[in-house]
Amino acid sequence: MAVPKRRTTKSKRNMRRMHIFIKEPTLVTCDKCKEQKLPHTVCSHCGYYKGREVIDVLKQDKKSSDKKSSDKKKTEEKEQPIGMGNMSKKK
Ligand SMILES: [Zn+2]
Repeated sequence: MAVPKRRTTKSKRNMRRMHIFIKEPTLVTCDKCKEQKLPHTVCSHCGYYKGREVIDVLKQDKKSSDKKSSDKKKTEEKEQPIGMGNMSKKK
């Protein structure tokens, strides 16, 4: 098995990882309630999509939207190496 001769420095490692981060999600404003929502999705606030009601928000408040969104937040914690990567590129 090939073994690296030199340890990768913090600088080189961070330069390599400069593009590895979770981007901020694109958000659009809902036409119905003016709330921020993901594009091409049903608004979780009012339950409308393309001007018609898809989800009855008043009945399904607790079940659907809350659990799914909390799972996604766990993956967003890897964002730290951004700053160091940016510093090393500017030379
Ligand atoms: Zn809405």
